[in-house]
Amino acid sequence: MRRDMKQKRLFLFLISLVCFCSVGVGKAPKYVFYFIGDGMGLNQVVATQYYLRSCQGELGITPLRFAQFPYTGLATSYSGSSDVTDSAAGGTALATGHKTYNGAIGVDGDGSPVTSIAEWAHDCGVKVGVATSVTVNHATPASFYANQKSRNDYYEIGAQLAASGFEFFAGGDFAEPSNPDDPSAPHLYDLAREAGYAIVRGYEEYEALDDSEDKVLLIQKTDAVENTLPYALDAREGDLTLTQVTAAAIDHLYDKRHKKGFFLMVEGGKIDYACHANDAAAALQETVDFDKAIRVAYEFYKQHPKETLIVVTADHETGGFTLGNGSYALNFGVLQSQKVSHVGFSRLVNRMRHETKDNVTWEQMQEALRANFGFWDTISLSERDVKALHSEFERSFQGDRNVKMAESLYYRDEPISALAVRILNRIAMVSWPVGSHTAAYVPVFAIGNGAERFCGQMDNTDIPKRIAEVAEWK
Ligand SMILES: [Zn+2]
Repeated sequence: MRRDMKQKRLFLFLISLVCFCSVGVGKAPKYVFYFIGDGMGLNQVVATQYYLRSCQGELGITPLRFAQFPYTGLATSYSGSSDVTDSAAGGTALATGHKTYNGAIGVDGDGSPVTSIAEWAHDCGVKVGVATSVTVNHATPASFYANQKSRNDYYEIGAQLAASGFEFFAGGDFAEPSNPDDPSAPHLYDLAREAGYAIVRGYEEYEALDDSEDKVLLIQKTDAVENTLPYALDAREGDLTLTQVTAAAIDHLYDKRHKKGFFLMVEGGKIDYACHANDAAAALQETVDFDKAIRVAYEFYKQHPKETLIVVTADHETGGFTLGNGSYALNFGVLQSQKVSHVGFSRLVNRMRHETKDNVTWEQMQEALRANFGFWDTISLSERDVKALHSEFERSFQGDRNVKMAESLYYRDEPISALAVRILNRIAMVSWPVGSHTAAYVPVFAIGNGAERFCGQMDNTDIPKRIAEVAEWK
């Protein structure tokens, strides 16, 4: 009798070992997150960490969640046509594993279509989500579902979004929802609806959505001031955020009865916009915001640690962001005095012009600069800076009416806004040698099942291939 009990226990023990092996180590991840910080080079990451610590008046760094992931690597980002990539070739490399020429979406150097990791996953029965803080047919998200020789063919790219069959899309809105070459062609919203997408505007509408919808396109409300999500620095109550987009994506894609799991790409697209405009405060807040979205995935990972892989990287660095200006010090804490982005302040200045019928006074401008940059308040200005601001004010508000706007890739700013940002950046001891992309290394961070594959030096084209290998999608 006792012997029988012992044998039974041994049998149960062996059975439990077999069960452990079949659900544990060695099994492919079922849930894969791919986060791409557009323009987020190594310095954008470490600067954000210095900034967070500096806001507490201390030296050193306060780590971002994703920067603490256990596996880290470095990736090269050169494209098929240049050592300095654009977002289209960078996105194509990260999505398809192919180098291509700058400007190309999902095609190789000869212009032939190539497939993306999102399609490989989808072909294996995995649910797919593609989300961004910029337009849903912008270069990075487009690289996951479209094949176009030019990134500027927004209408054609948007039509491919509708035809992709992916289960979830989210972002600011479509760029060019109607066909500029053919006004009679259907709008992209209609194409998406015809393809079975429920279009919801804002997070509340998403939450009210019927669970039975199998394909969702989540964009922001119609009263948004631009077709991207606002900068985190400018966001108002009720605006759609990247964190909400990530939460909605998981909510929609996760189904524990679905054996194949999901693949979700989330782009922090406006880090790049802020770096093109050389606005450090906006860029750092965008990186904090990107980290918040990643934390949503990290919470999911904690619930499903053996079944989840999270990879975080960037398509390229933007701005040549430099931490220091020659004086062996940083003063990043002053950036918290900036309450709006370069474009947020431009809009405010524009409103002032409108409200005063173009008779803004220097006192009114000083008040606006005090409230939004801390000038003459928490930030003391040199005589030279005050003179520069005053001269710009005279030029822009009292000189001829043809104000020469400050242009960066995505925005045209009031020159006084660009100048105020430049002055605060200099006081913070940040330098920006360029307003364009650079060929600097981009970081790779990973956690979860298969994360050890993302260590050391790699090329951007290796990343989707390694994810697909780990997930057994190709
Ligand atoms: Zn980019």
